Amino acid sequence: MTSASPTRVYLDYNASTPVHPDVVDAVMTALRTGGNPSSSHGTGRAARAWVEQAREAVARLAGCQPTDVVLTSGATEALSLAIHAILGDVRQRSPRPHVVASALEHDAVLAPLQTAAKRSEIDLDLVRPDSVGVVAAHSVREVLREDTALVALLAAQNELGSIQPLDQVAEACRKVGAVMLCDAVQATGRGLDLATLDADLLTISGHKFGGPPGIGALIRRNPNIRLIARTEGGLQEWGLRAGTENAPAAAGLARAIVLLEAGALGNHFEMREMRGQICQDLVALVPGATILGPSNSDLVLPQTIAVRLPGYDAETLVAALDLEGIAVSAGSACASGALTPSHVLEAIGLGEREAREVIRISFGYDTQPAELTRALDALRHVLPQVYLED
Ligand code: PLP
Repeated sequence: MTSASPTRVYLDYNASTPVHPDVVDAVMTALRTGGNPSSSHGTGRAARAWVEQAREAVARLAGCQPTDVVLTSGATEALSLAIHAILGDVRQRSPRPHVVASALEHDAVLAPLQTAAKRSEIDLDLVRPDSVGVVAAHSVREVLREDTALVALLAAQNELGSIQPLDQVAEACRKVGAVMLCDAVQATGRGLDLATLDADLLTISGHKFGGPPGIGALIRRNPNIRLIARTEGGLQEWGLRAGTENAPAAAGLARAIVLLEAGALGNHFEMREMRGQICQDLVALVPGATILGPSNSDLVLPQTIAVRLPGYDAETLVAALDLEGIAVSAGSACASGALTPSHVLEAIGLGEREAREVIRISFGYDTQPAELTRALDALRHVLPQVYLED
């Protein structure tokens, strides 16, 4: 099997993983069969079977009941459903509930919370991480209140790979009765066991572990949590998500989970070794290069490398590497024509210029050591072209 394309080296798995060929087969079979899972005839029943297989697979992975799995279009929708459900429920008792989120959360969490805070619908406390991108449990404890309704903390950070102390934070949440929402998108298929993640609600996304894009799930680990629908329409997903289910994507998600369970989506010990080697090579290649995130490899995803290359412009570097057939990503996002440093890099204390020097290399189940060597060779070749201008 090869990466996204045989001639290219794809090292942007945290953005999206290549869809595993077995998953493509499963999706194609379901697409060819067609049908609406709500129809009672045989074609509809076949489509329903794919949806239910996906639900059961997610439940196995997360150690919960299939009835506690809501299939969605991805993690963004799942997170939004979770946030609005919890806030909708709590606001019936408290007009302006208190919410805590880490400053490391994905925009799928931060944006709806910041909108609610701007409208004075919630009191929001953002908890900053330390300089390696870990939110200390005591920092969360310091802001927790008797009336804290919701705490959002992701399992592993998508830009840095840093793994968060979920257990300790979950324990603190239980003491004040706050619901703990954990975005487990980057944890799935990256060496963390979803069934042991301590949270009331979890979210996952198929395209981060060999599955198809356009499908994810909200997982209710705490059966006492009441979820409320956001869209009105059909009664799919227990009325929580109206609209015809994406049976082909469900077939793909179910297959990706079977592959994950069978160990076919990569050996994390080997990945950790590959990560260690490439970190060493990067530091040797670029004077002053710093690997961001925890230095203890147990506290970082085995396949994520965020590296600051002082003096080099990451956006230009990404473009130059792309011309060499290497796909990586920059730590800054281009918004409205202006380079804005990512909120994550800002949160760990990087200035604007420093953040512009960060690239992320993320690999996965299909990456060969030779591809990493090729990427390093390409980097060596393009570095002289990409100095930052003062
Ligand atoms: N949360 C994290 C940590 C992510 O990395 C992503 C995707 O980049 C998302 C949420 C959103 O996932 P989706 O693409 O399924 O909406």
